[in-house]
Amino acid sequence: MAQLILERGKEHSVLRHHPWVFSASVKDIEGRARAGDTVEVMDHRGRILGKAAWSPESRIRARMWTFDPAETIDDVFFKRHIAAAVARRQGLPSLKGADGKPRGLRLIHAESDGLPGLVADQYGDTVVVQLTSTGTDKWRKAIVAALVKATGCARVFERSDVDSRKQEGLEPVTGWLHGEAPAADILIEENGVTMKVDIEGGHKTGFYLDQRDNRQLLGQLSAGKRVLNCFCYTGGFSLQALAGGATEVISVDSSQPALDTAAANPALNPELDANRAKWVCANVFDELRRLKDLGEQFDIIVLDPPKFAPTARHAETASRAYKDIALNGFKLLAPGGLMMSYSCSGGISLELFQQITAAAALDAGRSARIVQRLQGAADHPVALSFPEGEYLKGLLVQAD
Ligand code: SAH
Repeated sequence: MAQLILERGKEHSVLRHHPWVFSASVKDIEGRARAGDTVEVMDHRGRILGKAAWSPESRIRARMWTFDPAETIDDVFFKRHIAAAVARRQGLPSLKGADGKPRGLRLIHAESDGLPGLVADQYGDTVVVQLTSTGTDKWRKAIVAALVKATGCARVFERSDVDSRKQEGLEPVTGWLHGEAPAADILIEENGVTMKVDIEGGHKTGFYLDQRDNRQLLGQLSAGKRVLNCFCYTGGFSLQALAGGATEVISVDSSQPALDTAAANPALNPELDANRAKWVCANVFDELRRLKDLGEQFDIIVLDPPKFAPTARHAETASRAYKDIALNGFKLLAPGGLMMSYSCSGGISLELFQQITAAAALDAGRSARIVQRLQGAADHPVALSFPEGEYLKGLLVQAD
């Protein structure tokens, strides 16, 4: 096994169990290591701190598998850690919904579950994996076997078509790793509502599971309300609003395939009144201005845009985008109305997001207050040693 020697002083972050070793922290690599190989990580004095996956092309040069020098990285390692992550979720709301139908659940949340570069989401008896690092790419077989064993699922699909693989020197990969495509659509139940999940063509692994609790909250707030859901994707928030008794829900997204899935979802829930839902294919930045020019008003506005700032470098341009939609959102909000706004950008802190929202309210001439801070659901935990894992932040704001 090759050995990665850290620059003097660079051992501190590893000692705090932060999983990333940046290129600038690497003094030397002794021995031969290919992409994805396991290397021993040691400080400049030769003290062994753990083992990591080597990634020669990435700025994150190594990702820590373990902080225990005695632990071996092999098939058993993945079996044990994947089983443990799945077991941790057993205390969380069960995979089966109230009506016995399967739900969606994130089984492995990468670094925060001790498995850097690995995301696994379960939709009924299908698991969708995303392998975003050289280490997980190399251990693909062991990971799939461990997931099948831990969940008993019939099939595993790979959606490793993410941009971040480029930084690792890896090509995008998608396809069935275990079992075959199911004959019928994959359906999940979320807070009593049935939704279709397109694992092959949808975003991420097919669905935004992280917003489950926030969608439930919207449902609880929606009785008798007129709701505008911006960046609706397949309509997760929209359906909860309908189920919660909204009088009208207008949903906007720029992706026609996402809207097609969304518009088909009310039919899976016959108790919902599909006539109250309107699906609009448009750019939210333009649509908000158009609605304002028409003099429209909404009691609740959801703003759940894509990641405008993947890293802090993009924070300034992203801030302008967040401010623009919040500003126009405030202008469309009825007196006493609620705005549920999110940032899933790693490069935007909660503090900055709050400042942006405050500036938008001020410019819109609205006085508003935070009534609740919002975050990702419990199956998307944030390891205490990895604060970067806290990407999703939201504010429930009420205007005068
Ligand atoms: N709220 C959704 C997830 C939103 S993801 C849910 O609960 O499932 C972000 C969405 O924004 C994606 O569906 C993407 O198609 C859409 N999008 C990105 N840029 C957009 C734009 N400028 N205007 C409208 N939609 C946009």
